[in-house]
Amino acid sequence: MMASTVLITGASSGFGKDAVRLFQKNGWNVIASMRSPEKEAELGKLDNVALVRLDVTDSASIQNAVAEGIARFGSIDALVNNAGFGSLGVLEAAPTDVVRQQFDVNVFGVIEVIKAVLPQMRRQKSGVIVNVASMGGRIAFPFSTLYHATKYAVEGLSESLQFELEPLGIKVKIVEPGGYKTDFAGRSLATFGAGDLLDYKPAYDVFASKVDTWPMSERVWEVAEAIFEAASDGSEQLRYPVGADAVQLLQARKEMDDLAIKNLIASHI
Ligand code: NAP
Repeated sequence: MMASTVLITGASSGFGKDAVRLFQKNGWNVIASMRSPEKEAELGKLDNVALVRLDVTDSASIQNAVAEGIARFGSIDALVNNAGFGSLGVLEAAPTDVVRQQFDVNVFGVIEVIKAVLPQMRRQKSGVIVNVASMGGRIAFPFSTLYHATKYAVEGLSESLQFELEPLGIKVKIVEPGGYKTDFAGRSLATFGAGDLLDYKPAYDVFASKVDTWPMSERVWEVAEAIFEAASDGSEQLRYPVGADAVQLLQARKEMDDLAIKNLIASHI
């Protein structure tokens, strides 16, 4: 039987890199896409892994990566939209380029990559699209407005998309990680704080003093496992929360009203 093929975005680090290793270990062909494949020393040495350049904000690179992957492996059975970028700070102080980048990467990039793989999945009459959102796609913390706006957008997009793709044999899945100690805070986070807006500064400073002490799980591989499960379990399950914090908070979100959940979050910040 022919091996299945997955295209993963943001495969240079974190969940994306672990997912490349896990799919490969399980016998899949992997199109490991990233902005700078020339910097990647390890993944290219694995059998049946094709390193391709794909910047989700660069349309030509998306088209080329999809074409290259299909030429090499003959199909795309799963797409993992993992590439992501975060931002932290007061909305009023957010630089316009950060606002745009936040949506360009986390929303418009996801849409463009999905549109690029769909012709192949429609030809195959099968496929799974796994969108890596966040527990922050269904619950919101302070000073992260832009990031939450994009992850809520990915949730809504995915939930609606499943209706039009199901009759074509294509499934849509959402993976919702809690807090994990990847390199996200180091390489993928724009922090603009309160800028020079003194009205916000006391509250932002309290938040900033606590944010580094938030418990983040070191069990990063759990997210790759959830991505793999979503891509391969054949089920109709839409959402895959991962991590104790995500499971607990999303359960609370189901059981509590808006005011109660706001007070719960505020009591932890
Ligand atoms: P990470 O290690 O920083 O990975 C982010 C990846 O996205 C990097 O490979 C980065 O590539 C890539 N990327 C950024 N902009 C891109 C672009 N324009 N085109 C292509 N790739 C781009 O962080 P991570 O924690 O694994 O994050 C992966 C996903 O999980 C993100 O969508 C994030 O929002 C989500 N998430 C993370 C957490 C967490 O606690 N870590 C929780 C919930 C959800 P470069 O190497 O080129 O920068």
